[in-house]
Amino acid sequence: NNEEATAKAAAANADSGAPTIFDKIIAKEIPSTIVYEDEKVLAFRDVNPQAPVHVLVIPKLRDGLTQLGKAEVRHEQILGQLLYAARLVAEKEGVLDGFRVVINSGPDACQSVYHLHLHVLGGRQMKWPPG
Ligand code: 5GP
Repeated sequence: NNEEATAKAAAANADSGAPTIFDKIIAKEIPSTIVYEDEKVLAFRDVNPQAPVHVLVIPKLRDGLTQLGKAEVRHEQILGQLLYAARLVAEKEGVLDGFRVVINSGPDACQSVYHLHLHVLGGRQMKWPPG
């Protein structure tokens, strides 16, 4: 079934430290719809949106941050910048009244791209608990 397929795909996709598709998005070698950009952070629309607003917020420099579970003390500043950028995105997208920020870290969380990213989701009623 669908859930088993999801779990299998996630388990098969481990953190190898290899370059990801997000490098090409940062380099603008593949197109994306950019919502917010500054020196350190890029935010662009998810290609497979799970809500009317679904934006990914990523560090331009991965610097070992393949997943939140690999974060170290030296990443504290960029982690704060990413969270603040998520709030700027929510404002820009008109969902400040209610939005969700999700970070999937590792196979059990179904992370599929190993370049840390925040999902900013909004524009519909969210449910809890998440699946
Ligand atoms: P994860 O499952 O790792 O938390 O989230 C990865 C997200 O990246 C998914 O929601 C997926 O739709 C999105 N994604 C994967 N490849 C691309 C791409 O080439 N362009 C964009 N805009 N989003 C992508």
